[in-house]
Amino acid sequence: MIFTLPQLGYSYDALEPYIDAKTMEIHYTKHHQAYIDNLNSAIKDHPELHKMSLIELLSNINSLPESVRTAIRNNGGGHLNHSMFWKMLKKDGGEPVGKVKDEIKRAFGSYENFKEQFTNAAKGRFGSGWAWLSIDKNGKLVVNSTANQDTPVSEKAVPILGLDVWEHAYYLKYQNRRPDYITAWWHVINWEQVEENYREKI
Ligand code: MN
Repeated sequence: MIFTLPQLGYSYDALEPYIDAKTMEIHYTKHHQAYIDNLNSAIKDHPELHKMSLIELLSNINSLPESVRTAIRNNGGGHLNHSMFWKMLKKDGGEPVGKVKDEIKRAFGSYENFKEQFTNAAKGRFGSGWAWLSIDKNGKLVVNSTANQDTPVSEKAVPILGLDVWEHAYYLKYQNRRPDYITAWWHVINWEQVEENYREKI
């Protein structure tokens, strides 16, 4: 076993009422754990992959052994995306801070415009996937979305904020109302972490 479930920095009910405790518990202990178990199982018989970091694996998907490529893409992506996601959430989220606050304004005109673009990306993702704020390969802040557990890392971009829009992330509380889940999520973004993600990559 190489990859393990990272610590959750808060209790399951910390993000109530926006994200409910039961969803947090199942999402973290069952869904995230399953990605990790499947990832470990995919690389088990490939010792040459054991010294690669998760980012290295996911930035070089096409050079991975074909027999485990899809499993690593899906489950490695799932592990990376969720590991980032937990850290990007906190009780009493508030609004952007620091350099990333200025860069959002520069790239999108205003925080409100950014919010609208990101919300549309999250609402518009058909089926399962993620919405992202990333630094693209030219150093520009961009909003987009990915299908399934695909990560911007595989496109040589650096994700700094992401929203899980798989039904497993919201169905218990919001059922089919993905837009309500997205609206609620804006209240629990850990902008200090987003700022840290931004500063690490520039
Ligand atoms: Mn998820």
